[in-house]
Amino acid sequence: MQAANHSTPKDSPAAPRRIQVHSPAHGGLVGEAPIADADAVKAAVAAARRAQEPWGALPVRERCAALLRFRDALVERAEELVDVLNQEAGKPRVEALLHEVTVLIDLTTWYAQRAPEILAPREVSLHLLKHRRAVIHHRPRGVIGIISPWNFPLVIPFGDAVAALVTGSAVVVKPSEVTPLIALKAKEIWDGAGLPAGLLQVVCGHGETGAALIDAGVQKIVFTGGVASGKRVAAACGERLIPCVMELGGKAPLIACADAELERTAHAIVYGGFANSGQVCISVERVYAHQAIYERLLDRVVELTQELRQGDATRAEVDVGAIIFEKQCEIAEKHVEDALARGAELRIGGKRAPGPGRFFQPTILAHCDHSMTVMTQEIFGPIVPFMKVADEEEALRLANDSHLGLNAYVFTADRERGERIAARVEAGTVLVNDVFTNYPSEIPFGGVKQSGFGRVHGEDALRDLAETRTITVDRLPSPSRDPMWYPYSEKGYRWFSKGLRALYGRGGLLQRLVDLV
Ligand code: NDP
Repeated sequence: MQAANHSTPKDSPAAPRRIQVHSPAHGGLVGEAPIADADAVKAAVAAARRAQEPWGALPVRERCAALLRFRDALVERAEELVDVLNQEAGKPRVEALLHEVTVLIDLTTWYAQRAPEILAPREVSLHLLKHRRAVIHHRPRGVIGIISPWNFPLVIPFGDAVAALVTGSAVVVKPSEVTPLIALKAKEIWDGAGLPAGLLQVVCGHGETGAALIDAGVQKIVFTGGVASGKRVAAACGERLIPCVMELGGKAPLIACADAELERTAHAIVYGGFANSGQVCISVERVYAHQAIYERLLDRVVELTQELRQGDATRAEVDVGAIIFEKQCEIAEKHVEDALARGAELRIGGKRAPGPGRFFQPTILAHCDHSMTVMTQEIFGPIVPFMKVADEEEALRLANDSHLGLNAYVFTADRERGERIAARVEAGTVLVNDVFTNYPSEIPFGGVKQSGFGRVHGEDALRDLAETRTITVDRLPSPSRDPMWYPYSEKGYRWFSKGLRALYGRGGLLQRLVDLV
């Protein structure tokens, strides 16, 4: 087994200024990426800004047409993207194609089709100042910095990038040091499609390259990563008063009600817990199963887990691929150790799989409780802990007993019950009888509590990537002086005071208008 699959020579003065990427599946060298220092990051932001000016001046429809050219190139070169994801991140080809390439292509298509309407100027009807016309415009911000993690190294940064680009901004992407090659491949495809080269920049490096990007004069940061780095990034943005989106960790609970359809629930837990080797911010990270189905569900999940084929995903017949980042194996081991010490039962898995390469066995733990880290801290690996609950209320209390709140899942045969429970779960998105399908779509994605703030995807997120500028114009010929302007007078005050009662008092004009509506 390889000790570490990504050489990250950040401290040694003699270290080459390149990142060497090794396959997590077999340890061989996959490629290298240049490390951008602070000056290189500044230069990238400056080049992006130069390219942004003509791009931002284009009508939205022309920007959309350009993005469709990028989309076409992504479709054309999808196999190259799958190859890099497969080699650099050890992902099964099906996951690389469906979870990353297809979702990016679909998001790009959706933005290109819908942006003209979503970003069109909107007139707001002012309820009091009827003599003025107000129009909200969604203008490009300038340069948007995107800092992203290694678990979905294509779709996360470039899904956010196409959204930012369609609003008329330029983008500088800082991929994780662990998976820079796919970002360089996406950039190669962008340039190869004849799109403005400066507009989409990629700067590779470690945390300090990300810190340099925040400091390089960007107008907004979209950050996806862990809570600890998120706090540092949000603080750095706060010091510079740069707005930011924080997409942080998750600890998704799955509530299995007594009437849940057993077979679908079991399959959903196995897929939701082990896809991408559990390295998904919306992975099923804890199951609260009603006592009436707990044992049967657990048994079936263990059976299905036994059938999974784990290994080097460069071979086609593999379900569960490698652990992308070395640290995650240690984290998984510690969770299992802690859970077993506190009384959990290991039903399957529980340790690293034999090498070469870096794998952790798909693991099911039974009889867990909230004294165990596996139920309270993010796992980000292929471990699914089960806890038996007496009823819905207990499941809800435990599901909400978390500092995180990104996704949650409810399984029940009764859709109304599902929606009722979902409405009480503290999470950015709750899915009834399904897992994962909220990310690859146009609905807002993001978390509550320490899972972050702001949203990606969807209409509101697209408008937030742009800058809101409002213009108000007089509808009628204006008098030489408005009544509220100088000079103030006692008579004017009495007039305004009467006006206030006439408009807002009980039975006042505005109240009557509201009643009419
Ligand atoms: P990290 O927080 O370690 O890193 C995320 C990115 O931030 C990396 O590019 C990293 O660079 C960079 N970075 C780290 N420190 C700083 C800093 N001080 N200033 C600027 N940039 C910095 O997360 P991981 O890469 O380990 O990803 C795993 C985490 O991401 C999990 O917690 C997971 O839940 C979360 N995640 C959240 C998602 C969501 O949408 N809510 C989706 C996917 C993952 P480098 O890697 O070079 O250190």
